[in-house]
Amino acid sequence: MYPNTDILNLSPNLTDYESAKFDFNWDHWHKEFSFNSTGKVNYAYEVTDYQVQKGNGDKPAFISQKTDGRVVSITFRELADLTSILATSLRSRGLKAGDRFGLYAAKSLDYAVVLLAAIKCGAVAVPLFSAFGREAIVDRLNDCGATWLYVTSNLIKNVPFDSGLSVTNILIDSSISLPGLSVHLLSDCYQGQPNPAATQFGDLETPFVIHYTSGSTGKPKGILLSSRAMIGHLLTAKYVLDLHPEDNYWNTADPGWVTGMIYNFFAPLLLGVAAHLYEGPFHPLDWIKFMSRMGISVWYSTPTAFRLLRYYGVPFDREHLPKLRHIVSAGEPLNPSLIDWTENNLSIPIHDSWYMTENGHQLINNYRCLPIRKGSMGKPLPGIRAAILSEQGEELPVGTIGRLAVKTPWPGLMKTVWGNQKKFEEYFQNGWYISGDSAYQDADGYFWFQGREDDIIKSAGERISPFEIESFLVAHPKVAEAAVIGKPDQLFGSIIKAFIMLKPGVSGTDQLKTELTAYVRDKLASHVAPREIEFVDKLPKTKSGKIMRRILRSQESNSPLGDFSTLDAEMNPIIEEN
Ligand code: ATP
Ligand code: MG
Repeated sequence: MYPNTDILNLSPNLTDYESAKFDFNWDHWHKEFSFNSTGKVNYAYEVTDYQVQKGNGDKPAFISQKTDGRVVSITFRELADLTSILATSLRSRGLKAGDRFGLYAAKSLDYAVVLLAAIKCGAVAVPLFSAFGREAIVDRLNDCGATWLYVTSNLIKNVPFDSGLSVTNILIDSSISLPGLSVHLLSDCYQGQPNPAATQFGDLETPFVIHYTSGSTGKPKGILLSSRAMIGHLLTAKYVLDLHPEDNYWNTADPGWVTGMIYNFFAPLLLGVAAHLYEGPFHPLDWIKFMSRMGISVWYSTPTAFRLLRYYGVPFDREHLPKLRHIVSAGEPLNPSLIDWTENNLSIPIHDSWYMTENGHQLINNYRCLPIRKGSMGKPLPGIRAAILSEQGEELPVGTIGRLAVKTPWPGLMKTVWGNQKKFEEYFQNGWYISGDSAYQDADGYFWFQGREDDIIKSAGERISPFEIESFLVAHPKVAEAAVIGKPDQLFGSIIKAFIMLKPGVSGTDQLKTELTAYVRDKLASHVAPREIEFVDKLPKTKSGKIMRRILRSQESNSPLGDFSTLDAEMNPIIEEN
């Protein structure tokens, strides 16, 4: 009944980029999945029952530190059993394959079990960031017609049941009366015997999640990912995260964002590696204590988090982080000075990686086996071809800034944009996926992010990268964070304006403005020196921590703000108390 375990886990981690690229074949990776021998696909099954079959049953699948400091864990065997019991229960309560199943809760072991049980039933998970408010919740659940919602009792007050919500079934952790809705108590659903028939198998096209994008450039889009993405998840868990069986892995992202979902609840588990979960909010010192306590060896986070840790001056050295051996970043451009920071303190760099919700998994990355060029996103994943295209779709030569594009198809590529096939089709041109990001490639094949196409500043006939100026500014000893935009200007088209958050204790004087302008002019280039500088207490960011330059642009030109449902008004105050 079980597949031949001799052929499992044959593919090693990445040691030679060029040869891995040379003879790469996606089909080769199929042999590491149960569907290869059974022909049947269920993503939740791959990360639960199949891990037990592979001999990982007694290993932890999740290790979670609760907000009161207690640490709880669940093994792969327990996870397989519990998800099967819950799936059986949910099926008997009416959950069907294809139903959209919202999750509005913080990371926890229950979250993991509910998510994977719903996917075992063939339902499509719709994760919602736990800091979302009423409108963001209604927009997303109604956009995809979700009929089920898992919500924890501490968050239920935010769910606007009076707003014509599509949801008819609530799964919750404590008793509550909600007239007109079917309420299912989680502890009741954990009772009973598992029925293997509850697990719905399909093919590799079967969807498992709808992820809403971060909303950095406009209204978030519902990206439907299908089970074939698991092939890219396994590959990147090995090649980019470089996970080994003995690793203690922590990814800081919330499951409401693609990185927090895929690289917490799926990718590491495919290798039988546990994901560590930290259940509290961002707290600089507690993060370091958590890493120290858990002996984290592989850490996946974001540039915003790195900048804030540096800003708060947490103990960041080998004494506190003795086991940390690999750091990966995604979601935003990684400023070179952040790599200097980890190199100086821990003697290891940060490995940047690039992808979009639409892509399903990391695509352009820095790998442990290749030298890092600070400020570059790295090179395409073996199996992926990326290029820089002109507006007309022609490949541009080395060193020319243009549209970052990826040759289709690849396993993680979205199946569609939920309810918007037209939008989905707009991403493609002559067999290329057009990212909407601007970049160039150097002579050795490294890709250099320049900004989102909308963020690129066109000033006096030049195309200027906000990222380069921002990186330069945040390397200045008095600067904590910076956002650079083009401010509309009658003469030049636009002028460069920098919004700067200073380090604690530094005052924003006119003299400092002059100093910073001179610093950029003299050390980077005169045409990119900010013409205007504004000191701010915080920058507008998405709830996932990305700088929203479009909000700053709208403010400067007095134009409407557009969709700001993902704007995080709280991010900086939350951490101020530390
Ligand atoms: P929306 O599509 O709703 O405007 P978003 O693009 O921020 O939001 P995501 O899919 O979460 O939503 O983010 C993908 C984008 O994040 C990329 O297009 C890119 O602009 C940025 N990004 C991700 N990783 C990197 C990276 N390593 N370097 C630079 N930018 C990155
Ligand atoms: Mg996007």
